[in-house]
Amino acid sequence: MAILLSGRDLARRIEAEAKERAAAFGDEPPGLAVVLAGDDPASRGYVRSKRKACARNGIESHLVEMPPDSTQQAVLAEIAALNSDTSVDAILCQLPLPSGISPSVVASAVDPSKDVDGFHPMNVGRLWRGEDCLLPCTPAGIMRLLSEYGIKPEGRHAVVLGRSTIVGKPMAAMLLAANATVTVAHSRTADLQSLCRSADILVSAVGVPGLIRGSWVREGAVVIDVGTTYVDGSPRGDVLFEEVEPVASHLSPVPGGVGPLTIAMLMSNTVRCRAGRGARGSA
Ligand code: NAP
Repeated sequence: MAILLSGRDLARRIEAEAKERAAAFGDEPPGLAVVLAGDDPASRGYVRSKRKACARNGIESHLVEMPPDSTQQAVLAEIAALNSDTSVDAILCQLPLPSGISPSVVASAVDPSKDVDGFHPMNVGRLWRGEDCLLPCTPAGIMRLLSEYGIKPEGRHAVVLGRSTIVGKPMAAMLLAANATVTVAHSRTADLQSLCRSADILVSAVGVPGLIRGSWVREGAVVIDVGTTYVDGSPRGDVLFEEVEPVASHLSPVPGGVGPLTIAMLMSNTVRCRAGRGARGSA
């Protein structure tokens, strides 16, 4: 039976720490701006959760809502304004963006010191160079989760399923920095099952519910399920829980595993952005 890796308690502690650090800024608290372009209901829900988290942690949130027919130029103009707004320390553009707007162009327009999601090329480059930088929230939360449960990636074979800019690639970089031997798999990978069976640590960030069967997992492996796909209103992970739980040594459940950590790390990163900017007048 696997030990379940709960993200809830850890997320609470990360937020408590962020709240305490936010309070230290007194009447100049950290400010997070969220750009929400379009009318995707899931995005609205995520943005609501992020703003609620700001409210409970003493972080000011600024919402920039833009219509679904917004042009890339209009989004870039909003970002330019937020870059020069001294009350804004951190900027997040909720994905997905409306069609015709390039997420990578938008990410590149954010001031790297306000790049709370760690998607700007400068932060991506620093991550791969092993330098200190703002880290993407979901994989950073996973690294905290592993550490919380005493799981050391060093010398182990980590297989990351998924190669997105948001999860898969930065996850691979962070595991590599922690001295794991990393393989990144994706939709074109041949014989995924054998590859997964060779993993000591398997991180699945695909979005196909039940993809990872018990027979895909080596006895005693650590399995991190990032997948979150809503089926009939409930979140479903990539892992077929009832088959994998008896085989894995550790398993993060969906919900309650990785999910809560993403928002907690967003709070932590926002405070870090604020700390990097010093007194308001000097920004
Ligand atoms: P994404 O951009 O759609 O990337 C999915 C990746 O999975 C791609 O690299 C794709 O390969 C690969 N893939 C798709 N089908 C596959 C298959 N059958 N076998 C192997 N690989 C396959 O998604 P994402 O943004 O990284 O998110 C992945 C999942 O994590 C989603 O369920 C998302 O909701 C969840 N998520 C959760 C959190 C959280 O806080 N809990 C945060 C972010 C994301 P190709 O590159 O070849 O297309």
